[in-house]
Amino acid sequence: MTDFPGRLREVIPPLVSFRAPMEVVRGEGTVITAADGRRFLDFSTGIACLNLGHNHPRVVEAAREQLDRLWHAGFATYPHRPLVEAAGKIAQVTPSRVEQVLFMNSGAEAVEGAVKLARYTRRRPGIIVFRGGFHGRTLGSVAYTTSAAAYRRGYQPLPSGTYVAPFPHPFAWGMGEAEATEQALSGLLRIFRHEIPPEEVAAFLIEPVQGEGGYYPAPPGFLAGLREQADRHGILIIADEVQTGFGRTGDWFAAQTLGWEPDVVVMGKAIANGLPLSAIGASAETFSGWPYGAHGTTYSGNPVACAAASAVVDELRGVIPGVAERADRARRRFLEMADRCPTVGDVRGLGLMIGVELVDGEGRPDKEAFESVFQHSFREGLFFLPCGTDGNVIRFIPPLNVSREHLERALDVIEAGLADYEARR
Ligand code: PLP
Repeated sequence: MTDFPGRLREVIPPLVSFRAPMEVVRGEGTVITAADGRRFLDFSTGIACLNLGHNHPRVVEAAREQLDRLWHAGFATYPHRPLVEAAGKIAQVTPSRVEQVLFMNSGAEAVEGAVKLARYTRRRPGIIVFRGGFHGRTLGSVAYTTSAAAYRRGYQPLPSGTYVAPFPHPFAWGMGEAEATEQALSGLLRIFRHEIPPEEVAAFLIEPVQGEGGYYPAPPGFLAGLREQADRHGILIIADEVQTGFGRTGDWFAAQTLGWEPDVVVMGKAIANGLPLSAIGASAETFSGWPYGAHGTTYSGNPVACAAASAVVDELRGVIPGVAERADRARRRFLEMADRCPTVGDVRGLGLMIGVELVDGEGRPDKEAFESVFQHSFREGLFFLPCGTDGNVIRFIPPLNVSREHLERALDVIEAGLADYEARR
């Protein structure tokens, strides 16, 4: 992390420590331009928000038009067209149990809202989360976040009622997917036996692909096992699709890519291609148990953000069919790199959400390798972020409409960065 010169350090607290030491003045598609004229391929995608790239003309136009008409209404004050249109369009593309959409502002807020919905309607206290998951940084959501203890450091005690079950991590556990699935499911059963009986559990809260935790997709067998337990015990399944939603995994939502049916879907990030908006989706029946006054937030359903969200859904219809080909290409290239470079320990993910785990000679997480490949890439005009508990996983999340040329260029740069690191180590 590098400090930016000038007044920035006087007025912005040190908590905000920027990974790219440059002032960015413009973004267009996959490319960002710095104040000094340098151009970069932005594969950070605004932390997985810019699925259509920067400044997408269709989204900009929709937001701008709404900006001139009505830019704020307030929660449950009066309805407006963008609210109803966006909810209708989103409900059409979400997993099948979702019929209604409640807008919020951030991922963490929507996660907390979904948990409140589950507790309120089930009248049960328990929430089961899965180790390695990331669900936000507010005091409530950080209690569900276990991708790294650092997120929780200094904030204990956290709100109670949360139980952490294992999530299958085949690479970290050094075993195949089937064995990891079996172990994780038996860990859940042990929680039922020793810590909280299933009839006191309101919800399972899970990312179908763990994001910050290292781009680990949940094996379909694991998700099926959760569905079975949920059905048996009347537990709601909340899928946190804040990072996986809106085309990232090759379908609208990862649940669809994985053939799985959650009860509640939490959305955020790419929903309005970077404007602050998030949402909770569920069936009309589930929402019917949550009456007026039980929850709310001032900015819910901001008209400009909703107009952008409608444009995002319209545009993604034409973009999502192209994700699989780009994802296959990237995955193939990374697997070739893995064959040649011992630093690449694992290539995993779903669709254009690819994690490339870098390891040392003993197979342990190698953060230094990540930093070296990152610095090399940055010098060559490519910007991306890490993920994983140890910050050693290349988080490969281009815009979903990335051009073939930009995709290949990014892969070439990473490959050269790996070769450079291996030549020096
Ligand atoms: N859930 C998931 C899966 C996320 O990846 C994130 C953010 O990275 C969040 C929730 C929290 O979203 P926000 O940062 O908008 O509060």
